[in-house]
Amino acid sequence: MNDPRPATMRDTINERAPRILVVEDESSLALLLVYNLESEGFFVEHVDRGDEAELRLAEAPPDLVILDWMLPGVSGLEICRRLRARDDTRDMPVIMLTARGEESERVRGLSVGADDYVVKPFSTPELMARVHALLRRARPERVASRLTAGDIDLDRETRRVKRGGREIHLGPTEFRLLEYFMEKPGRVFTRAQLLDSVWGMSAEIDERTVDVHVGRLRKALIRSREKDPIRTVRGAGYSFDETFGRN
Ligand code: CA
Repeated sequence: MNDPRPATMRDTINERAPRILVVEDESSLALLLVYNLESEGFFVEHVDRGDEAELRLAEAPPDLVILDWMLPGVSGLEICRRLRARDDTRDMPVIMLTARGEESERVRGLSVGADDYVVKPFSTPELMARVHALLRRARPERVASRLTAGDIDLDRETRRVKRGGREIHLGPTEFRLLEYFMEKPGRVFTRAQLLDSVWGMSAEIDERTVDVHVGRLRKALIRSREKDPIRTVRGAGYSFDETFGRN
């Protein structure tokens, strides 16, 4: 049977690369960081003001933030403090950048909850190594090659999905959607968040697109009386049922 879906560029973009937000107002340094992070295969966004960073962090929380200390708008220190005060961003890895290298400043940075602290000028390979180390530590599920929930098994390397041993054939978008859900069971995502994270851009796509793809995912996953692993949360969005496979 032919797949009736139009070929969309978004299917080839962002194979769930970890997302990194760079908050840096020094444009030459920001360019260097974005360039190097993209070469490492990360999906990178850059903003140059603290207040913009806060908006971005609320809209689409990234997997890691590289945060300059001194910023127009809101300071990096304050952003970090606020991230730590919010349930959904409490564990987000933060690397602080600063021109100041005094021990007391370092302590202040770490005391508001930065995971790491890098003094300018720094070596790019060293910063990259820290980014990788933090991601591995903070999100082991992002580097695990397999995700399992109940009788559903998703293999990132072969990009194959099985349920109860049978092969499930998914389109690229449905695969990423399932992968994203399985990474954060129980968490409710709005359609806008899913568009942003799974489709990979602040898309001008209609939010109903999400419903269509969730529908396809369900259809592929569920046979006869099998349990639906995806919960529709009325007025909010969707989540992967955290009790799936446990009852
Ligand atoms: Ca600065």
